[in-house]
Amino acid sequence: MAALMNPKWNGQFSCFDLVAKTDTCSRSVVQVRDIEIGGNDFVVMAGPCAVESEGQILQTAGAVAEAGAQILRGGAFKPRSSPYAFQGLGVEGLKLLQKAREATGLAIVTEAMSEEDVDVVAEYADIVQVGTRSMENYALLEALGACGRPVLLKRGMTATLEELLRSAQVIAMAGNSRINLCERGIRTFETATRNTLDIAAVPVLKAVSHLPVIVDPSHAAGVRSLVPILSRAAAVVGADGLIVEVHPQPEKALSDGNQSLTFSEFHRMMDDLQPYLDIQRDSRQLRPQLLAVAGAD
Ligand code: PEP
Ligand code: MN
Repeated sequence: MAALMNPKWNGQFSCFDLVAKTDTCSRSVVQVRDIEIGGNDFVVMAGPCAVESEGQILQTAGAVAEAGAQILRGGAFKPRSSPYAFQGLGVEGLKLLQKAREATGLAIVTEAMSEEDVDVVAEYADIVQVGTRSMENYALLEALGACGRPVLLKRGMTATLEELLRSAQVIAMAGNSRINLCERGIRTFETATRNTLDIAAVPVLKAVSHLPVIVDPSHAAGVRSLVPILSRAAAVVGADGLIVEVHPQPEKALSDGNQSLTFSEFHRMMDDLQPYLDIQRDSRQLRPQLLAVAGAD
Protein backbone atom coordinates (compact mmCIF):
# COMPACT_ATOMS: atom_id res chain seq x y z
CA MET A 1 0.00 0.00 0.00
CA ALA A 2 3.00 2.32 0.46
CA ALA A 3 2.93 3.20 -3.22
CA LEU A 4 -0.61 4.51 -2.79
CA MET A 5 0.38 6.99 -0.10
CA ASN A 6 -0.15 10.65 -0.90
CA PRO A 7 1.87 13.00 1.39
CA LYS A 8 -1.20 15.21 1.80
CA TRP A 9 -3.19 12.42 3.46
CA ASN A 10 -0.59 11.94 6.14
CA GLY A 11 -0.85 15.54 7.35
CA GLN A 12 -4.62 15.41 7.15
CA PHE A 13 -5.12 12.28 9.23
CA SER A 14 -2.11 11.83 11.49
CA CYS A 15 -3.72 13.86 14.31
CA PHE A 16 -6.15 10.96 14.82
CA ASP A 17 -3.32 9.03 16.39
CA LEU A 18 -5.34 6.09 17.75
CA VAL A 19 -6.82 5.16 14.39
CA ALA A 20 -4.19 6.46 11.92
CA LYS A 21 -1.62 4.13 10.46
CA THR A 22 1.78 4.40 12.15
CA ASP A 23 5.19 2.79 11.62
CA THR A 24 4.45 0.36 14.42
CA CYS A 25 0.80 -0.30 13.60
CA SER A 26 -0.07 -0.55 9.94
CA ARG A 27 -2.94 -2.98 9.99
CA SER A 28 -5.21 -4.30 12.75
CA VAL A 29 -7.54 -7.18 13.23
CA VAL A 30 -10.83 -6.84 15.05
CA GLN A 31 -11.72 -10.17 16.60
CA VAL A 32 -15.42 -11.03 16.88
CA ARG A 33 -16.00 -14.42 18.49
CA ASP A 34 -13.86 -16.68 16.26
CA ILE A 35 -13.92 -14.30 13.29
CA GLU A 36 -11.03 -12.01 12.41
CA ILE A 37 -11.98 -8.84 10.55
CA GLY A 38 -9.02 -7.19 8.85
CA GLY A 39 -6.99 -10.41 8.68
CA ASN A 40 -6.61 -12.85 5.81
CA ASP A 41 -10.32 -13.54 5.42
CA PHE A 42 -12.85 -11.42 3.59
CA VAL A 43 -15.71 -11.26 6.09
CA VAL A 44 -19.27 -11.03 4.82
CA MET A 45 -22.10 -9.73 6.99
CA ALA A 46 -25.54 -10.29 5.50
CA GLY A 47 -29.20 -10.23 6.43
CA PRO A 48 -32.31 -8.13 6.24
CA CYS A 49 -32.40 -4.38 6.66
CA ALA A 50 -34.75 -4.87 9.61
CA VAL A 51 -35.69 -7.83 11.78
CA GLU A 52 -39.38 -8.28 10.97
CA SER A 53 -40.38 -11.65 12.45
CA GLU A 54 -38.92 -14.85 13.86
CA GLY A 55 -39.53 -16.74 10.63
CA GLN A 56 -37.93 -14.04 8.49
CA ILE A 57 -34.73 -13.73 10.54
CA LEU A 58 -34.24 -17.48 11.15
CA GLN A 59 -34.79 -18.31 7.49
CA THR A 60 -32.44 -15.55 6.36
CA ALA A 61 -29.77 -16.51 8.90
CA GLY A 62 -29.80 -20.10 7.65
CA ALA A 63 -29.58 -19.02 4.02
CA VAL A 64 -26.75 -16.50 4.44
CA ALA A 65 -24.74 -18.91 6.62
CA GLU A 66 -25.14 -21.58 3.97
CA ALA A 67 -23.86 -19.17 1.33
CA GLY A 68 -20.73 -18.37 3.38
CA ALA A 69 -21.58 -15.27 5.42
CA GLN A 70 -20.06 -15.22 8.91
CA ILE A 71 -22.07 -12.44 10.48
CA LEU A 72 -25.83 -11.81 10.47
CA ARG A 73 -27.03 -8.24 10.09
CA GLY A 74 -30.52 -7.01 10.97
CA GLY A 75 -31.81 -3.78 12.42
CA ALA A 76 -33.87 -3.88 15.61
CA PHE A 77 -33.69 -0.13 16.22
CA LYS A 78 -34.17 1.45 12.80
CA PRO A 79 -33.08 5.00 12.00
CA ARG A 80 -35.58 5.87 9.27
CA SER A 81 -35.57 9.13 7.39
CA SER A 82 -39.37 9.14 7.44
CA PRO A 83 -41.31 9.14 10.73
CA TYR A 84 -44.00 7.09 8.94
CA ALA A 85 -41.65 4.22 8.03
CA PHE A 86 -41.26 0.96 10.02
CA GLN A 87 -39.19 1.78 13.10
CA GLY A 88 -38.08 -1.75 14.02
CA LEU A 89 -39.02 -4.28 16.70
CA GLY A 90 -36.65 -2.92 19.37
CA VAL A 91 -35.64 -5.34 22.12
CA GLU A 92 -37.94 -8.01 20.66
CA GLY A 93 -35.82 -7.81 17.50
CA LEU A 94 -32.61 -8.21 19.51
CA LYS A 95 -34.05 -11.38 21.08
CA LEU A 96 -34.84 -12.78 17.64
CA LEU A 97 -31.26 -12.05 16.53
CA GLN A 98 -30.01 -13.96 19.56
CA LYS A 99 -32.19 -16.91 18.56
CA ALA A 100 -30.73 -16.77 15.05
CA ARG A 101 -27.20 -16.81 16.49
CA GLU A 102 -28.06 -19.86 18.59
CA ALA A 103 -29.52 -21.61 15.56
CA THR A 104 -26.70 -20.88 13.11
CA GLY A 105 -23.55 -19.84 15.01
CA LEU A 106 -23.45 -16.57 13.08
CA ALA A 107 -22.23 -13.51 14.98
CA ILE A 108 -24.63 -10.56 15.10
CA VAL A 109 -24.25 -6.95 13.97
CA THR A 110 -27.07 -4.53 14.76
CA GLU A 111 -27.46 -0.81 15.23
CA ALA A 112 -27.63 1.33 18.35
CA MET A 113 -29.27 4.66 17.57
CA SER A 114 -28.67 6.50 20.81
CA GLU A 115 -26.53 6.25 23.90
CA GLU A 116 -29.54 4.89 25.80
CA ASP A 117 -29.65 1.86 23.45
CA VAL A 118 -25.97 0.96 23.79
CA ASP A 119 -26.16 -1.29 26.86
CA VAL A 120 -29.08 -3.36 25.64
CA VAL A 121 -27.71 -3.65 22.10
CA ALA A 122 -24.28 -4.67 23.44
CA GLU A 123 -25.98 -7.31 25.60
CA TYR A 124 -27.31 -9.09 22.49
CA ALA A 125 -24.98 -8.06 19.66
CA ASP A 126 -21.43 -9.08 18.82
CA ILE A 127 -20.82 -5.85 16.89
CA VAL A 128 -22.62 -2.57 17.48
CA GLN A 129 -23.40 -0.64 14.30
CA VAL A 130 -23.38 3.16 14.12
CA GLY A 131 -25.59 4.27 11.24
CA THR A 132 -24.83 6.97 8.72
CA ARG A 133 -27.24 9.37 10.43
CA SER A 134 -25.43 8.90 13.75
CA MET A 135 -21.78 9.22 12.73
CA GLU A 136 -21.47 12.54 14.52
CA ASN A 137 -23.66 11.67 17.53
CA TYR A 138 -20.87 12.19 20.04
CA ALA A 139 -22.89 11.04 23.05
CA LEU A 140 -23.43 7.72 21.24
CA LEU A 141 -19.78 7.47 20.16
CA GLU A 142 -18.58 8.08 23.70
CA ALA A 143 -20.99 5.51 25.12
CA LEU A 144 -19.51 2.95 22.70
CA GLY A 145 -16.12 3.46 24.34
CA ALA A 146 -17.16 1.34 27.31
CA CYS A 147 -19.59 -1.07 25.63
CA GLY A 148 -17.15 -4.00 25.41
CA ARG A 149 -18.12 -4.77 21.81
CA PRO A 150 -16.49 -3.98 18.48
CA VAL A 151 -18.11 -1.20 16.49
CA LEU A 152 -19.08 -0.92 12.81
CA LEU A 153 -18.85 2.81 12.17
CA LYS A 154 -20.68 3.86 9.04
CA ARG A 155 -19.57 6.94 7.16
CA GLY A 156 -22.04 9.80 7.40
CA MET A 157 -23.75 10.31 4.04
CA THR A 158 -22.26 13.81 3.82
CA ALA A 159 -19.08 13.16 5.80
CA THR A 160 -15.52 13.40 4.53
CA LEU A 161 -13.05 10.64 5.32
CA GLU A 162 -11.38 13.01 7.76
CA GLU A 163 -14.68 13.37 9.61
CA LEU A 164 -15.15 9.58 9.59
CA LEU A 165 -11.72 9.10 11.17
CA ARG A 166 -12.44 11.88 13.65
CA SER A 167 -15.49 9.93 14.83
CA ALA A 168 -13.42 6.75 15.03
CA GLN A 169 -10.89 8.64 17.14
CA VAL A 170 -13.69 9.71 19.52
CA ILE A 171 -14.68 6.06 20.08
CA ALA A 172 -11.04 5.03 20.52
CA MET A 173 -10.37 7.87 22.97
CA ALA A 174 -13.40 6.75 24.95
CA GLY A 175 -11.69 3.38 25.39
CA ASN A 176 -12.70 1.13 22.50
CA SER A 177 -10.18 0.63 19.70
CA ARG A 178 -12.04 -2.28 18.08
CA ILE A 179 -13.55 -0.26 15.24
CA ASN A 180 -14.45 -1.27 11.69
CA LEU A 181 -14.88 1.58 9.24
CA CYS A 182 -17.72 1.28 6.72
CA GLU A 183 -18.11 3.01 3.35
CA ARG A 184 -21.84 2.95 2.49
CA GLY A 185 -22.10 5.57 -0.22
CA ILE A 186 -22.27 9.32 0.04
CA ARG A 187 -24.77 11.89 -1.17
CA THR A 188 -23.82 13.53 -4.45
CA PHE A 189 -25.73 15.18 -7.30
CA GLU A 190 -26.23 11.74 -8.89
CA THR A 191 -29.74 10.35 -8.56
CA ALA A 192 -29.52 7.15 -10.64
CA THR A 193 -28.23 5.38 -7.53
CA ARG A 194 -29.45 5.95 -3.96
CA ASN A 195 -25.97 7.11 -2.90
CA THR A 196 -22.63 7.24 -4.68
CA LEU A 197 -20.27 4.45 -3.62
CA ASP A 198 -16.96 6.18 -2.97
CA ILE A 199 -14.83 3.25 -4.01
CA ALA A 200 -11.64 5.31 -3.62
CA ALA A 201 -12.46 5.65 0.07
CA VAL A 202 -11.35 2.03 0.54
CA PRO A 203 -7.71 2.36 -0.61
CA VAL A 204 -7.43 5.81 0.97
CA LEU A 205 -8.67 4.52 4.34
CA LYS A 206 -6.43 1.46 4.05
CA ALA A 207 -3.48 3.78 3.34
CA VAL A 208 -4.05 6.19 6.23
CA SER A 209 -5.67 4.05 8.94
CA HIS A 210 -4.87 0.67 10.45
CA LEU A 211 -8.56 -0.16 10.97
CA PRO A 212 -10.45 -2.71 8.84
CA VAL A 213 -12.67 -1.30 6.08
CA ILE A 214 -16.05 -2.81 5.20
CA VAL A 215 -18.16 -1.87 2.16
CA ASP A 216 -21.96 -1.67 2.16
CA PRO A 217 -22.97 -2.00 -1.51
CA SER A 218 -26.69 -2.19 -0.66
CA HIS A 219 -27.19 1.31 0.75
CA ALA A 220 -24.77 2.71 -1.82
CA ALA A 221 -26.67 1.27 -4.78
CA GLY A 222 -30.27 1.36 -3.58
CA VAL A 223 -31.04 -1.23 -6.25
CA ARG A 224 -30.31 -4.94 -6.00
CA SER A 225 -29.00 -5.43 -9.54
CA LEU A 226 -25.89 -3.37 -8.71
CA VAL A 227 -25.02 -5.10 -5.45
CA PRO A 228 -22.98 -8.03 -6.84
CA ILE A 229 -20.82 -5.87 -9.11
CA LEU A 230 -20.16 -3.30 -6.38
CA SER A 231 -19.21 -6.17 -4.07
CA ARG A 232 -16.66 -7.35 -6.61
CA ALA A 233 -15.31 -3.81 -6.85
CA ALA A 234 -14.95 -3.73 -3.05
CA ALA A 235 -13.00 -7.00 -3.13
CA VAL A 236 -10.69 -5.73 -5.87
CA VAL A 237 -9.83 -2.45 -4.13
CA GLY A 238 -8.89 -4.25 -0.91
CA ALA A 239 -11.89 -4.01 1.40
CA ASP A 240 -11.84 -6.37 4.39
CA GLY A 241 -15.45 -7.39 3.93
CA LEU A 242 -19.01 -6.50 3.06
CA ILE A 243 -22.32 -5.80 4.74
CA VAL A 244 -25.14 -6.80 2.39
CA GLU A 245 -28.93 -6.74 2.67
CA VAL A 246 -30.69 -10.06 1.98
CA HIS A 247 -34.41 -10.83 2.43
CA PRO A 248 -36.54 -13.96 1.86
CA GLN A 249 -39.05 -11.91 -0.17
CA PRO A 250 -37.56 -8.51 -1.00
CA GLU A 251 -40.78 -7.28 -2.59
CA LYS A 252 -42.52 -7.71 0.78
CA ALA A 253 -39.71 -6.24 2.95
CA LEU A 254 -40.78 -3.57 5.43
CA SER A 255 -37.65 -1.58 4.57
CA ASP A 256 -35.07 -1.42 1.79
CA GLY A 257 -36.64 -4.19 -0.31
CA ASN A 258 -35.41 -2.64 -3.57
CA GLN A 259 -31.79 -3.10 -2.60
CA SER A 260 -32.15 -6.48 -0.85
CA LEU A 261 -30.92 -9.62 -2.59
CA THR A 262 -32.93 -12.83 -2.66
CA PHE A 263 -31.31 -15.92 -1.15
CA SER A 264 -30.33 -17.28 -4.55
CA GLU A 265 -28.94 -13.95 -5.73
CA PHE A 266 -26.82 -13.73 -2.58
CA HIS A 267 -25.62 -17.30 -2.98
CA ARG A 268 -24.59 -16.64 -6.57
CA MET A 269 -22.83 -13.43 -5.61
CA MET A 270 -20.81 -15.26 -2.93
CA ASP A 271 -19.92 -18.05 -5.34
CA ASP A 272 -18.68 -15.56 -7.94
CA LEU A 273 -16.53 -13.45 -5.60
CA GLN A 274 -13.40 -15.63 -5.32
CA PRO A 275 -11.49 -14.57 -8.46
CA TYR A 276 -11.89 -10.94 -7.40
CA LEU A 277 -10.66 -11.71 -3.89
CA ASP A 278 -7.62 -13.45 -5.34
CA ILE A 279 -6.46 -10.16 -6.85
CA GLN A 280 -5.84 -8.79 -3.32
CA ARG A 281 -4.67 -12.06 -1.76
CA ASP A 282 -1.08 -10.94 -1.15
CA SER A 283 -1.95 -7.69 0.60
CA ARG A 284 -4.50 -9.51 2.76
CA GLN A 285 -1.74 -11.78 4.04
CA LEU A 286 0.41 -9.00 5.54
CA ARG A 287 0.67 -9.64 9.23
CA PRO A 288 -1.83 -7.52 11.14
CA GLN A 289 -1.81 -6.65 14.84
CA LEU A 290 -4.70 -7.72 17.04
CA LEU A 291 -6.57 -4.82 18.61
CA ALA A 292 -6.84 -5.08 22.36
CA VAL A 293 -10.19 -5.94 23.87
CA ALA A 294 -11.61 -3.10 25.93
CA GLY A 295 -13.85 -4.35 28.72
CA ALA A 296 -15.54 -7.72 28.92
CA ASP A 297 -16.60 -9.54 25.80
C1 PEP B 1 -28.89 -0.09 7.58
O1 PEP B 1 -27.80 -0.69 7.71
O2 PEP B 1 -29.97 -0.66 7.38
C2 PEP B 1 -28.87 1.38 7.58
C3 PEP B 1 -29.90 2.09 7.99
O3 PEP B 1 -27.72 1.86 7.07
P1 PEP B 1 -27.22 3.36 6.91
O4 PEP B 1 -27.08 3.90 8.30
O5 PEP B 1 -25.91 3.22 6.19
O6 PEP B 1 -28.24 4.10 6.07
MN1 MN C 1 -31.27 -0.75 5.25
